[in-house]
Amino acid sequence: MKQELRQHEILALLDKESGISAGDLAQRFQVSRMTIHRDLNSLLKQGLLLRIHGGAVMKGHNRNVDDSHCSACKRRPLPHQCCEIRRKDGSFDVTCCAVCGLRLFSSQPEATQLFVGDQISGQMCLAENAYFLINSLASPCCQPSLLSFSSEHEVALFQAGFGGSIARFDEALEFLRVAEDLNRA
Ligand SMILES: [Zn+2]
Ligand SMILES: [Zn+2]
Repeated sequence: MKQELRQHEILALLDKESGISAGDLAQRFQVSRMTIHRDLNSLLKQGLLLRIHGGAVMKGHNRNVDDSHCSACKRRPLPHQCCEIRRKDGSFDVTCCAVCGLRLFSSQPEATQLFVGDQISGQMCLAENAYFLINSLASPCCQPSLLSFSSEHEVALFQAGFGGSIARFDEALEFLRVAEDLNRA
């Protein structure tokens, strides 16, 4: 398949299911990952893709943070903090921060993917690949203090300044569950 045609089809595919991995694309088009990365870079440069992170590819126009509100608490989502929850049918929710993102995600059985923002770079990544900082001094949006990062390096940098403990996705969900139980008690 010609490069131009493949790029066109990649965009069409992302219209249907945002958050495909580069590996998936390579398999679908029967080309190497290198070829897919070249395609993605070219689409990025043209502004047709927004971000490639944690293996996920997102299309640029899917979200308009400026006029959206958190699906959980109605606050305005902040860049670098907002999360995106995707469902099987292609619909999605945006939340203000990781606290609302993880809470809403765990309360929605039909949710399939959760993307969280990196506190430092603002890039989105899959929650399963993300690092979380819990109980630090920083609490820029909702309580309790829970921030998301795309890499171990970045979460460690933040922890050095603001304390707290580093957690993976499961531990972060558990942290919120426990905090909620304490609130109720
Ligand atoms: Zn919220
Ligand atoms: Zn929030």
